[in-house]
Amino acid sequence: MDVPAPHAGEVVPGLWDVLIVGAGPAGLSAALTLGRSRRRVLLLDGGPPRNASVSAGHGLLTRDGISPQELKAAALADLEPYDVTVREDHAREVRRVGECFDVRVGDAWQRTRVLVFATGVRDILPPVPGLRERWGQGVFHCPYCDGWEHEGRALAVYGSGQSAHHLALTVRAWSDRVTLLCDGEPCLTPEQALDLERVGVTVRTQPVRRVSGGPLEDAPVCVSFVGAPPLQVDAVFLAPEQQGGSHLPAALGCTLDGKGRVTVDGNQETSLPGVFAIGDMTGAPQYVVQAAAAGMHAAQVINTRLIHAAVHALGAAFHKSPEDGEEVARDPEPHDE
Ligand SMILES: Cc1cc2nc3c(=O)[nH]c(=O)nc-3n(C[C@H](O)[C@H](O)[C@H](O)COP(=O)(O)OP(=O)(O)OC[C@H]3O[C@@H](n4cnc5c(N)ncnc54)[C@H](O)[C@@H]3O)c2cc1C
Repeated sequence: MDVPAPHAGEVVPGLWDVLIVGAGPAGLSAALTLGRSRRRVLLLDGGPPRNASVSAGHGLLTRDGISPQELKAAALADLEPYDVTVREDHAREVRRVGECFDVRVGDAWQRTRVLVFATGVRDILPPVPGLRERWGQGVFHCPYCDGWEHEGRALAVYGSGQSAHHLALTVRAWSDRVTLLCDGEPCLTPEQALDLERVGVTVRTQPVRRVSGGPLEDAPVCVSFVGAPPLQVDAVFLAPEQQGGSHLPAALGCTLDGKGRVTVDGNQETSLPGVFAIGDMTGAPQYVVQAAAAGMHAAQVINTRLIHAAVHALGAAFHKSPEDGEEVARDPEPHDE
């Protein structure tokens, strides 16, 4: 991914307590808790959430079936009473300046005490014609999100090797009519092939030509093959490759794991003190409720740290009672309890 050249520009006067990059479920949730903690927050809203293509999101407590757009609108409305500025724009560059961070938005730099990345991931779909257009509309990645709506129907799992084998065995729990589409060599061990046979998953190895139909055309999903009759199913499931939603954490120097996800500790803090990462970008489990929980957790850790800084600045400390020992050597945080 291209890292833009350093950019000159004004630093906007005024210091944000926290600047959050990304207004998906993770960023919105962090903004809510920080706003309620009386923090001055800038939330950069760079666009729709990852699941924007689905008509209904599932598995969120009390909001099963809510559309991603409706959920985002409600989350933004929740922020209105608080000192949270929401700006529809992207963070373009980030740099450390002493104890603070500068984030370029448009032509100006915004300075913040704490930086939170909530920039999600990008799904890299296999290059099968018709698949990308149906992502979230007949083609899904997760049976927990979209399995129930297709239970007992004819389903396909696309992929080969271990991940497709595992996904096929999982999807089989929602329907006994599952076909694994290997699109060429299945790359299964003899044991894996036997597993699929035992649970009644059919394996097709013919190259897939294209995917058509589905809700977009008010029709079943149709998988066409090279040199074999087509297959009609209710839905296709696949586990796509993923890429970080933004190059900025790496550009700033945050450590990434072998899969390109930002590494965080138990407090959602990255390898760079004062820089946090939340939601899908830190890896599995990738669900709305999980992203929101990580946002709230990070917000609480950040606020605790800011409280401690303010207390110390006034010459006070979180002294312990004698039975608990002397003043804590470093600031306690929720994760330390
Ligand atoms: C097809 C599909 C269906 C799904 N269904 C469900 C479901 O039913 N239930 C469920 O719980 N989960 C579901 N998910 C998973 C769910 O969408 C994610 O777990 C969730 O959206 C993660 O939230 P997030 O805030 O971490 O990231 P995201 O939702 O990806 O939000 C990240 C945001 O950051 C923004 N951003 C990136 N870079 C910048 C930048 N430089 N500046 C400003 N903003 C930036 C992006 O534009 C985006 O708005 C589904 C996913 C897919 C793909």
